[in-house]
Amino acid sequence: MSELSEFSLIKKYFENSTVERDDVLVGIGDDCAIVQSKTHQQIAISVDTLVEGIHFLPNTDPESLGHKSLAVSLSDLAAMGATPAWFTLALTLPEVNADWLAGFAKGLANLATAHNIALIGGDTTRGPLSITIQVHGHVDAEQALRRDGAKVGDSIYVSGTLGDAGAGLKLKQSQLKNKSGTATDLIFLQQRLDKPTPRVALGQSLLYVAHAAIDISDGLVADIKHILEKSNVGAQINLDALPVSTELTQAVGREEAEKLALYSGDDYELCFTVSPEKDSELVNKIKDTYSKVGTITDDNNIVFIKSGQEIELTGAGYEHFSTES
Ligand code: ADP
Ligand code: MG
Repeated sequence: MSELSEFSLIKKYFENSTVERDDVLVGIGDDCAIVQSKTHQQIAISVDTLVEGIHFLPNTDPESLGHKSLAVSLSDLAAMGATPAWFTLALTLPEVNADWLAGFAKGLANLATAHNIALIGGDTTRGPLSITIQVHGHVDAEQALRRDGAKVGDSIYVSGTLGDAGAGLKLKQSQLKNKSGTATDLIFLQQRLDKPTPRVALGQSLLYVAHAAIDISDGLVADIKHILEKSNVGAQINLDALPVSTELTQAVGREEAEKLALYSGDDYELCFTVSPEKDSELVNKIKDTYSKVGTITDDNNIVFIKSGQEIELTGAGYEHFSTES
């Protein structure tokens, strides 16, 4: 992109678009951003790329895309219990489209402002539409929630409801067979796909309480496996306890809802494990909705329970399309 158009585009849509923070000493406009670090805190860093046609459908509404691009990275900070501070944005654009940029910048800025995270720099290039965001957050030294801390006997919890975004994606691709549910139900499911809510406050309140945590981007089964592998433990999951929204149940029925809750991605809820002794602390500290879905075991695999009986789940049941991590 010519230097002038890139420069004016950045200025117009991204400079001063998010929040002002005292710890940003040099923001957008120089060769590097300079930020002030804090003593007794560590910095959590995560980067994610979203490519058109792979991570989101062509012609996705730009405002939703601005929201989602940042939301998926904020969700990583949430999973570690980190407090968002700064982010950078590398944008590859096929063309300079003012309407698209205005929408994208709006979705991005609204979510950034809500989480007090400042856009401090980036890069702009021409090519197939792709968005890369790197986030930085603070976390108390040695306290970050990791995947390797789960202990045998821990309760397994998930926040919110699962499977909504997966149904939203199927709906968009006209792959939702036998769908029922009202128009409001279906809009809710699509919103859960397009505008996920990163559980940032929940992640922070799990510090000093949870043993392990992960955000659910690829589906509960796929993501809990990361905790099990890193922690060298197994899990028993109670299918009757899976939290599914009434919208999802109305749209696809309980059985399909459970399948989506287990295997579909893009919900960006948190899965975390807590020792039974801390259950009461959890109740007092956590404002978000969460459900106990199982227990950490010592037998290195996942066992599913339905109506009190151990059952086999055969086949993955669901192919991922929208998330690749
Ligand atoms: P350089 O050539 O030194 O990499 P650039 O011309 O790429 O500088 O960028 C100029 C300034 O604008 C830098 O401070 C950079 O961080 C910022 N910037 C570029 N693209 C973006 C973007 N998409 N979002 C936010 N800041 C950006
Ligand atoms: Mg550059």
